[in-house]
Amino acid sequence: MKQQQYIPTIGLEIHVQLATKSKIFCGDATEFEANPNTQTSAISLAHPGTLPKLNKEAVEMAVKMGLAINSQIAPQVVFDRKHYFYPDSPKGYQITQHTLPICKGGDLELELADGTKKVIRFHQIHLEDDAGKSTHEPDSDKTLVDLNRAGMPLIEMVTEPDLSSAEEVGVLLEEVRKMVRFLGISDGNMEQGSLRCDANISIRPAHTEELGKKVEIKNMNSIRFVKKAVNYEIERQTNLLENGKPVEQESRLFDTDKGITQGMREKEDANDYRYYPEPDLVPYRITQEWLSKIKSQLPKLPKQLKYEFIETYGLPEYDAGVLSDSMFLSRQFELLMDENADPKRAANWLMGPIQSWFKEQKEDTLELPVHSIAKAINWVEEGKMSGTQGTQKLLPALLSNYQLDLEQFANANHLFLSTDSSMLDEAIESVLKSHPEDVLRYKKGKKGLIQLFVGKVMAATKGKADPKQVVGKLQEELNK
Ligand code: MN
Repeated sequence: MKQQQYIPTIGLEIHVQLATKSKIFCGDATEFEANPNTQTSAISLAHPGTLPKLNKEAVEMAVKMGLAINSQIAPQVVFDRKHYFYPDSPKGYQITQHTLPICKGGDLELELADGTKKVIRFHQIHLEDDAGKSTHEPDSDKTLVDLNRAGMPLIEMVTEPDLSSAEEVGVLLEEVRKMVRFLGISDGNMEQGSLRCDANISIRPAHTEELGKKVEIKNMNSIRFVKKAVNYEIERQTNLLENGKPVEQESRLFDTDKGITQGMREKEDANDYRYYPEPDLVPYRITQEWLSKIKSQLPKLPKQLKYEFIETYGLPEYDAGVLSDSMFLSRQFELLMDENADPKRAANWLMGPIQSWFKEQKEDTLELPVHSIAKAINWVEEGKMSGTQGTQKLLPALLSNYQLDLEQFANANHLFLSTDSSMLDEAIESVLKSHPEDVLRYKKGKKGLIQLFVGKVMAATKGKADPKQVVGKLQEELNK
């Protein structure tokens, strides 16, 4: 029997931990992996009588994300209480936004592997605080509670159910991760939990319109696992329907070891949370003036950079994609362009030796000696130095000493190509003279020997000759 076609419908809820210096409603520090319960205060421990105070930095970061996805920004920030009991949430409720999210609507265009584009709409972005963290001790019945995370600022980005495959989910998450990094609002680090994702998945027979029962997979913190979980869940639901069994509406967890999703608890209805307006926080007004200021300071995002690199500098699409994907590379490329470096060669140096070097550095906010690098790039471009000398000798020396005097170093190490053709002719002549047998073998057809002669000539000229010119002259000489 031919299996029926099913169409998956997927929506995501993406939690992004904002990179504010302090928590969202108090001054506690937000460092990752501080000793347990050292970044807490009477407010994050929810002592009676304490009052939250809104961190404006968190508001600004949420607004930046909203502007980046074309959301409508709310005129004021108001919060609601969402009640539930968690052992790691001393308040007994989460402060979140239920009635008026800070950002409404929005969209993001994805570029899929086959080159097609797809727009994913967003339902909203809201601000909320995080709960603490419980660690269940293996081999013991103890659970440890760390409240450092309690009160950390989060935005929750809720998409419309516009996604229909694991691939699209992966591309969206990668795009969001890139965006939060470029916007400087989060480190986007999934392993550390700065970006977490819940996925709502349902399937329906291709010929029907009505959506199937949706299953929510909670709290995944790796793009690879999210994609695996989505694929597993689509397959699981398809098997159920194929066998005439219903899909239960439920929350499931993805077991990363087994690669399967498992039922967790029934989904609460919204009213179980007993939402009501947070009485301890006054509404915070977002003025048009403030909004335009943030808008004017928004950094360029990867998509815009890629477009500019192609349009303004004539880079191939591949190069533009690689450079614009990386905050470091795109920034350095722009700086090199300000120094009038040749665009294509600058791209090659950045994607090759500079990127390898950068990966070995343990810092991610490095700046390069762009003025000197641009000069070196252009020496190669103008034929004054071979590409090999440039990338293998000059560049490494420069990267280990930003103050390097380029001319002096290049001269001292004979890096400039010799323009003196009589010296080259002499070197070729003496190399061929001292290898009569090899010359004979070459003439009898062992054309590969040309590499040997090139090597000898390069050595004789101390690398100052232009390899291309050497090959040409050697062939000319040998074919006489
Ligand atoms: Mn949430």
